[in-house]
Amino acid sequence: MKENDVIVIGGGFSGLMAAAVAAKRGKKVTVLSLGAGTLSIASGNVDVLGYDKNGKPVANPKAGLSSVAADHPYNKIGQKSLEEAVQFFLELTKEEGYAYKGSLDQQQWIPTAAGTLKPTCLVPMTMDTSALKNASKAYIIGFESLKDFYPHLVAKNLRNMPGYDQEYEMLMVDPKLPAGRDVTNLDIARWLDSAEGRKAFVAQLRATIKPGSVAVIAPVLGTAPSHAVRDELEQALNCKFVESVVVPPGITGHRLRIMMLNHVKKLGVKVVEHAVVTRGIVENGQCTAVVTEAIDRERTYQAKSFILASGGFYGGGLVAEPGQAIEPVFNLPIAAPTTQEDWSNFQMFSNEAQPFEKIGIAVDETMRPVDADGKVLLNNVFIAGRNLCGYDFCFEKSGNGVAMASGYKAAMSV
Ligand SMILES: Cc1cc2nc3c(=O)[nH]c(=O)nc-3n(C[C@H](O)[C@H](O)[C@H](O)COP(=O)(O)OP(=O)(O)OC[C@H]3O[C@@H](n4cnc5c(N)ncnc54)[C@H](O)[C@@H]3O)c2cc1C
Repeated sequence: MKENDVIVIGGGFSGLMAAAVAAKRGKKVTVLSLGAGTLSIASGNVDVLGYDKNGKPVANPKAGLSSVAADHPYNKIGQKSLEEAVQFFLELTKEEGYAYKGSLDQQQWIPTAAGTLKPTCLVPMTMDTSALKNASKAYIIGFESLKDFYPHLVAKNLRNMPGYDQEYEMLMVDPKLPAGRDVTNLDIARWLDSAEGRKAFVAQLRATIKPGSVAVIAPVLGTAPSHAVRDELEQALNCKFVESVVVPPGITGHRLRIMMLNHVKKLGVKVVEHAVVTRGIVENGQCTAVVTEAIDRERTYQAKSFILASGGFYGGGLVAEPGQAIEPVFNLPIAAPTTQEDWSNFQMFSNEAQPFEKIGIAVDETMRPVDADGKVLLNNVFIAGRNLCGYDFCFEKSGNGVAMASGYKAAMSV
């Protein structure tokens, strides 16, 4: 039997944010986590609100909050908590030596691997585009055998994007990785983690790259949440690098996960990985403990409060069964369209929202789960992240924003 003030179920962004905030408030916290969730495959940017419910771009995420539907998590979290969450997160990143940049007042439009622009709110400094926007010419750096970053597409499309209409020149680097399988951004980032990789990279570019220039590159400047690789390469080549968004695995997401884990552990949080919470023990609307299943035996973890940050269908916090969606730990009610055909918009490459994305748990203003009549179902259980109902993170670009702010609000409510 383990005693805690707070048990967090889930080690994704919402769970680790909740753990950091609760620990900073002096709580004794344990995180029980089945896996990494979406954090390490995603791009690590914090999208707050990129598009409104009609798909119109939002220039100012804070102002855009007034346009979200009544049941959207931001309406439960509130603007003040969102602002505090942003502040908390930006300070955390500075403390960890891997600072993020951005504000709720200004959308950032950052380059993708296809040369399009993606709206986001907070980005790691390696994705800061200020130097690129001020340059009259920039390089696009590609890697031989890397299929997840398309330098020719970036060069072709980016020049048609507002604010990025400069001249682009492609440069290719050959990491000479063993042949026989597809190379990912993770392989290149690991190559640049090594001193030999960095030396070979500099040697291949030194003759061509002009001093004082700017170069767009996939997020490969090392796997660690640190600027050391970027700084060393920038110094050696006398240029500035701007990392772009890529398809998974996005190394910037991996860095965010490592940074969050490092941070919570420094705050004294106990993180139990590969721990699957199978059920909660509930008496009179109060959860007294949760039970985890391991290969050898079940373990029971007691706490005063619990934060359920177990993700959506991808993370494992919601399970789709024929005709219904299930929350497997507390069996909380999940509002979903009754006919399963209505869960999805089947049109290929549609730019419409997906109804199944909005499926999740309804909460009150303290993030406690409620039924269809708004009655609180569990007094000391708080919900955070992708298992909340009422938002389509992919359509509106709000995934990590909701995760960060709901994790913050849940931890402030315990
Ligand atoms: C490919 C991809 C790219 C994305 N890119 C971006 C982006 O650029 N910007 C952005 O803002 N958002 C992005 N998102 C969305 C964003 O990643 C998520 O919305 C957000 O991180 C959700 O965090 P979460 O902690 O709520 O859930 P998750 O990340 O899913 O974490 C859930 C956690 O709970 C654990 N868990 C589940 N069930 C149990 C259980 N029974 N017991 C113990 N642990 C359990 C999981 O293992 C995991 O650790 C992206 C998502 C995807 C899939």
